[in-house]
Amino acid sequence: KYESYPYEHLLKIRKQNVSPSLVTYYKKPLLLHQGHMQWLFDYEGRRYLDLFAGIVTVSVGHCHPKVTAAAQKQLDRLWHTTNIYMHPSIQEYAEKLTALLPDPLKVVYLTNSGSEANDLAMFMARLYTRNFDLICFRGGYHGASPYALGLTSIGSYKHGVANGFGCQTTMLPDVFRGPWGGSHCRDSPVQTIRKCSCSQGSCEANDWYIEQFKDTLDTCVPKKIAGFIAEPIQGVNGAVQYPKGFLKKAFQLVHERGGVCIADEVQTGFGRTGSHFWGFQTHDIVPDIVTMAKGIGNGFPMAAVVTKPEIANSLAQNLHFNTFGGNPVACVAGSAVLDVIAEAGLQKNSEEVGTYMLLEFAKLRDNFEIIGDVRGKGLMIGIEMVKNKDSRQPLPAEEMSEIWEDCKDMGVLLGKGGIYGQYVHAIG
Ligand code: PMP
Repeated sequence: KYESYPYEHLLKIRKQNVSPSLVTYYKKPLLLHQGHMQWLFDYEGRRYLDLFAGIVTVSVGHCHPKVTAAAQKQLDRLWHTTNIYMHPSIQEYAEKLTALLPDPLKVVYLTNSGSEANDLAMFMARLYTRNFDLICFRGGYHGASPYALGLTSIGSYKHGVANGFGCQTTMLPDVFRGPWGGSHCRDSPVQTIRKCSCSQGSCEANDWYIEQFKDTLDTCVPKKIAGFIAEPIQGVNGAVQYPKGFLKKAFQLVHERGGVCIADEVQTGFGRTGSHFWGFQTHDIVPDIVTMAKGIGNGFPMAAVVTKPEIANSLAQNLHFNTFGGNPVACVAGSAVLDVIAEAGLQKNSEEVGTYMLLEFAKLRDNFEIIGDVRGKGLMIGIEMVKNKDSRQPLPAEEMSEIWEDCKDMGVLLGKGGIYGQYVHAIG
């Protein structure tokens, strides 16, 4: 028990001196003291199973000893080089990271957050193509900086100021909530229980969503698309998966119109989806730019943009500078994360544990009217709560919150999200 923390006093300071835009979860916000692997401990010594992985960021466990030791050793030696001097760690990390990506994705730019990585990806796409329009999905989350906010298409994150010039939001090919979908459309061990609208041998839902995508492309300057960005599985919007084959076709259409394709792997990367190290690999595509954050540093603030040499060169025509990006502490922490994922077989673990959880959640779905959908891959799991299965209307926010608060009281931390806040995520 850690009673020396005056909870009420801290809450008062939080209200007075910390930006009110930084919301806390739960009616009585958790005051955390310590973390160890999958566990978090609050100031009263209560233990919680962190199924939200510290918001999808803790890829190898809270305070993993190997990552902590690597960062500690570097902290004692040198924190900072501003990138204008060489330090072995950035080269070592770039070599290790790019070895995990297919050709021609071999050039890394390290940043400090996912928003910053996506800002840079947008910038590179525009510089390289000399085009302006960027396409993104409804329900996508790509960051909160003014630039990336243009790609983030969830109302609760929008503010009443201009953002996102040139960002065109396209229809989300969501086979559960969207107009078309079937029981075998997506790549998940658990199928949707929605009636299938596909004819034998071809997926009609995919064809219809692709038609919609083409319509969006046609609203842009003809043949002049800067790019298209997608999360391989949408995270904040509720582990939404697209029909099989959608991204592959969409990438082809964007390339035909001169654009580059960006995979936002901030949530899906680093083995989380189980079957593959990167989410894009589950779609059988190779993006032109990949952005990553969260799990990359197991909670250490770092992020990256990886691209091919031609695109990376477009940024070298003039100076581009980032004071902290690629600092030695981040690089050694990131490097240790990659080692732990490989040594502990965490990708395989995601697949095995995730598939087990998905199949068990699907049994609950079949027994409870308010569980409309169970979906995801590996340890990226979404459970969509509804009023009832027929209407698929979202469960009212208050009811959803009650379940979520109860889970916390029982010692399990989950996320919640979606356009209506109607789905729970479990991302261990
Ligand atoms: N992309 C995705 C898919 C995300 O989930 C997030 C964060 N929720 C971001 C980008 C932005 O990352 P950050 O909060 O580090 O800026």
